[in-house]
Amino acid sequence: MRDFSADHRWLSLNTATVRKQGDLVQIIEACARHGIRAIDPWRDQVAGVGLDRAVRAIGDAGLELSGYCRGGMFTSDAARRREVRDDNRRAIDEAKALGAPCVVLVVGGLPQFSRRGSTPSRDIGAARAQVEDAIAEMLAYAGEVGMPLAIEPLHPTYAADRACINTTRQALDICDRLDPGRTGLLGVALDVYHIWWDSEVLSQIARAGKDRLLAFHVCDWLVPTKDMLNDRGMMGDGVIDIRALRAAVEAQGFCGYSEIEIFSNAWWDQPIDDVLRTCIARHRTVV
Ligand code: ZN
Repeated sequence: MRDFSADHRWLSLNTATVRKQGDLVQIIEACARHGIRAIDPWRDQVAGVGLDRAVRAIGDAGLELSGYCRGGMFTSDAARRREVRDDNRRAIDEAKALGAPCVVLVVGGLPQFSRRGSTPSRDIGAARAQVEDAIAEMLAYAGEVGMPLAIEPLHPTYAADRACINTTRQALDICDRLDPGRTGLLGVALDVYHIWWDSEVLSQIARAGKDRLLAFHVCDWLVPTKDMLNDRGMMGDGVIDIRALRAAVEAQGFCGYSEIEIFSNAWWDQPIDDVLRTCIARHRTVV
């Protein structure tokens, strides 16, 4: 297992962590001030400054990307299928322009929440089937341009509105069905916030193996959690054994960035330099 205690070479910042403190260019400048080497930007933040300007700012700062957030939200009614497909193709094109190693997929829950205005449904089985069909379609395009797709299973609390793929096993089942040859184009983004509770997580990480482990996200689970979306904890402030999970992915050969992704009303209220200083300190001591 890599030793993170001496530096933060393998720290990547998911830019949602400081999305309230500045635009993407300001976030990139802050990363440069703190010697952060990689980011995972969100599409709306890229759009906020313009794709060309984002590409330039990332290049000028010499940053790498650890992913691109996000594609997905595949579930919709029939009237919106084309919109969903085109939107996801654009996500791949943007990821390519930005030099991302993968597009992270948050797959969507029930259609009325994933694509607003869709006819309401209670059929989560149908939603899961639709997700798999849509990933198959997206994978064909991803293969043409050589952009890997990383399915991020989300904690079951988000099954209705964000992702009906809720365990690493479910995500890997899809990978095995759609990419039996393990081409490297389809894998998982494992976020400790979503997987820490799962009794199967260690065996599923071993099942994934290096070629399916495309991204690793860290934060912490606070007790109590006051807001199901925006009360994630800074690493070390909650109950997740982050180091055990990192050890498990690294035992499979994962050697990429440890990406900090914290949606938190509390941390969004703090000055960006304080947040980044704390991220770096916790990366060294807790991750
Ligand atoms: Zn994540």
